[in-house]
Amino acid sequence: MSSKMQAAVVEQFGKPLVLKELDVPTPGPGQVLVKTEACGVCHTDLHARNGDWPLKPALPFTPGHEGIGIVTALGAAVTAVKLGDRVGVPWLYSACGHCEYCLSARETVCAEAQFGGYTRNGGFAEYIVADPNYVAHIPADLAARDAAPLICAGITSYKGIKETQARPGEWIVISGIGGLGHLGVQYAKAMGLHVCAVDIDDGKLGHAKRLGADAQVNARHGDPVAAVKKVTGGGAHGVLITAPSLPAFSQGVGMTRKWGTCVLVGIPPGEFPTPLFDVVANCITIRGSFVGTRQDMAEALAFAVGGNVKADIELQPLSAINQVFERLGRGDVPSRVVLDFGAK
Ligand code: NAD
Ligand code: ZN
Ligand code: ZN
Repeated sequence: MSSKMQAAVVEQFGKPLVLKELDVPTPGPGQVLVKTEACGVCHTDLHARNGDWPLKPALPFTPGHEGIGIVTALGAAVTAVKLGDRVGVPWLYSACGHCEYCLSARETVCAEAQFGGYTRNGGFAEYIVADPNYVAHIPADLAARDAAPLICAGITSYKGIKETQARPGEWIVISGIGGLGHLGVQYAKAMGLHVCAVDIDDGKLGHAKRLGADAQVNARHGDPVAAVKKVTGGGAHGVLITAPSLPAFSQGVGMTRKWGTCVLVGIPPGEFPTPLFDVVANCITIRGSFVGTRQDMAEALAFAVGGNVKADIELQPLSAINQVFERLGRGDVPSRVVLDFGAK
């Protein structure tokens, strides 16, 4: 093992990442060292770089919470993984394990949770220190680059669909057909739902159609709420909003059928107006959803092993991260960029 590694580091919010040569970290007791093979680039990494959210990471930090790699060193007293295992280091980096939320399989809202690539250094680096109790276990026949988008974009869209409580044969709107949404369309189809894809880009909508979406609505043209109500016969039973754009949120609430559930997953900074009378009189549920539990992770990965869900990926080297962020900010990434460490 070389004692130095390349990492892309946020030193200042809103500024390009700095490519640095850092010491390879040493795993402490109860930690493992993962040699990165691939790491997806999530829109959350861009929010992190920009310091968009009320809870800000401490500078400097290394983003990336879709890192997949091989366990190459174990700290003391590690039994949950072994040397050579392929694991993913996700957004839910660790949690306390004993609060009311951890005990009831809702560990993503644990007050002591740490977040990969945010409050802990993440996968935009050749090595990652991880908590073996919270890593994703990557099935043997899934390549690292294919698994990477699943451990955030996949689990988050899968969990968000479950949280809509839409049932097979019912309609779901997936708003935002980027990294999360292109997987959301596939999960929703595999779960027996009718899918109406919403985006502001015809290329993304064409992609949704190829992935099996039953209807497409461009939110930039005409009245997208009326268009969805027409397609779904009165609104979708479930709405999943992945768009990192505030107008999509009021629209998504308007697209929700009476007694339906609108799940908020995208996190653009700010607030959105909610038509209180309509939400009350139509008995609409508006619910936040934050990645997923370790059990959700296993389920989300299992869909990929069955061949029902496959991320569309574009490979780039770590050194291209600033260009990738620029494109992501412009909506110019077709589905998911995965940083490829494989050549090293
Ligand atoms: P992305 O950039 O890959 O995709 C976003 C998509 O939304 C693009 O296709 C874009 O064209 C589309 N879009 C933009 N404005 C729109 C609008 N007004 N209406 C409909 N579509 C619109 O981003 P991503 O990686 O999929 O992440 C999306 C959001 O989800 C980000 O805010 C990210 O931080 C958040 N996120 C949340 C969680 C969670 O746990 N809740 C997890 C991961 C990501
Ligand atoms: Zn993410
Ligand atoms: Zn806890």
